[in-house]
Amino acid sequence: MADPVFRIADLKKSFGPTQVLGGVSLELHAGEATVLMGANGAGKSTLVRIVSGVYDRDGGTITLDGKDFAPSSPADAIRAGVVTVHQNINDGVVVALDVATNLTLDRLNGKGAKLFFNPRAVHRQAREVAARMGLDVDLSAEISDLSLADRQMVAIARAMAHEPKVLILDEPTSSLSSAEANRLFEVVDRLRERGVAILYISHRMSDIRRLADRIVSLRDGRITGTFDTKPLDYEGAVNAMLGQTMHRAEISARDGAHTVFSAEGLRLAEHAKPFSLKLGDGEIVAITGLVGVGKTALAETLFGVRAPLAGTMSLNGKAYAPDSTADAIAAGVFLVAKDRAESGIVKDFNLYENLSMPFLDRLSTLGVARRGEERAVARNAISDLKIVCRSERDDMATLSGGNQQKVMVARWMSQPANLFILDEPFQGVDIAARRDIANKLRASAEGRATLVFVTELDEALETADRILVMSEHTIVGEHRNAEVDIDRLLAEIAGQPLKGAA
Ligand code: ADP
Ligand code: MG
Repeated sequence: MADPVFRIADLKKSFGPTQVLGGVSLELHAGEATVLMGANGAGKSTLVRIVSGVYDRDGGTITLDGKDFAPSSPADAIRAGVVTVHQNINDGVVVALDVATNLTLDRLNGKGAKLFFNPRAVHRQAREVAARMGLDVDLSAEISDLSLADRQMVAIARAMAHEPKVLILDEPTSSLSSAEANRLFEVVDRLRERGVAILYISHRMSDIRRLADRIVSLRDGRITGTFDTKPLDYEGAVNAMLGQTMHRAEISARDGAHTVFSAEGLRLAEHAKPFSLKLGDGEIVAITGLVGVGKTALAETLFGVRAPLAGTMSLNGKAYAPDSTADAIAAGVFLVAKDRAESGIVKDFNLYENLSMPFLDRLSTLGVARRGEERAVARNAISDLKIVCRSERDDMATLSGGNQQKVMVARWMSQPANLFILDEPFQGVDIAARRDIANKLRASAEGRATLVFVTELDEALETADRILVMSEHTIVGEHRNAEVDIDRLLAEIAGQPLKGAA
């Protein structure tokens, strides 16, 4: 094989005492798409930021076409031919400018910036760039009026105006619809044909199957596997990403008592296979699967945020079809949402106010909050979940991420639930807080059904009595957490059920 266009060797990066990249080596070849797979926090975006000139590295070497590559700024990296579309898409476009200006922006800033004063020339150049990419957007539209997908296309087209040798895409489809993602894949195909070396960061199996020529797995800042023989070993890649360090958790799996919740013929997406689901009293069920397989869609369906495309649900034997989250809460279905900072915590409220917020009607008399009761509930939660704080009147902002998460969990545990749902409750939570939350969930499980959505398999193994696997918006596997066949589980996560398995 020809020499790699781009070679990263022994790249190291720490933030304070935390080592995020522990000596990463990676090669990219012309006309090939290398997929970098890694769980949340593995260090993917940090790698991208170093390569694109945003961060300095602590150690290691990078070469482009055999020559030392050490960009002093993002503009410097782009000039050298290494172009990046960052995970946060608004880093790639200037929202205040129109499409044409965005597409030609980097030329405007370069030498010969006379163009700046010639809107017709700007439009002509922008048209060229857009045509080459097959980009179909109104060049005079403001970026702020475009959909996320179109913004992303503009960011990529803008990047491509530089004729890069290396193109890096950091989780580009995370907010795209499947039609939009297909447009992106076509663009990537075209660039690959033109000999661009592509580094595509994703852990969406469907993207990976569609695009990857090679897969490299990253875990905890180290490369844990490289897969380049056809057919690609997706299962091996997922295994390397999630780690062989998985240990059997010391929990004794319980079987649910009578059925609390059931769903029949539930369909979450166009073309997705319907599935059924039964959750028993006292049982904790984890649903695992990669990003984008429909976990959040299911959580939102159960919580009344969206309606299923088909199917029926029942709760304690009665039909359950919530039109709103208020309906769900009234039926005793509670959700600890993911992204607590965005959808959970109210920053202007203190700890106890955050706890009682959804239940104020239950803690009020004639519309007046019974503060004493609210605070007593909060003090209980603090000791119960070992929330580290000074008192129940602390500002939420003064708590660490793990403790904020405990407040969110405690909020929804402060009233009895029929079905208790937690969407990624362990994300951004340290190991001690994770144990505290899992222990509390298990200790309090009687009297309700509990459903936990987790991307990390270890979290499922540490928390649940039963583990269900989601792929392509349906449930593809089920395991009692007692004698889990890890190979089968990983194959299901990778969307590649083992031969002979059901
Ligand atoms: P990924 O993109 O694989 O999800 P990141 O590279 O974003 O992972 O993050 C890897 C780890 O580095 C995380 O634990 C994150 O909290 C930490 N990290 C990333 N950027 C910074 C920063 N600027 N300062 C401190 N820690 C950071
Ligand atoms: Mg990232």
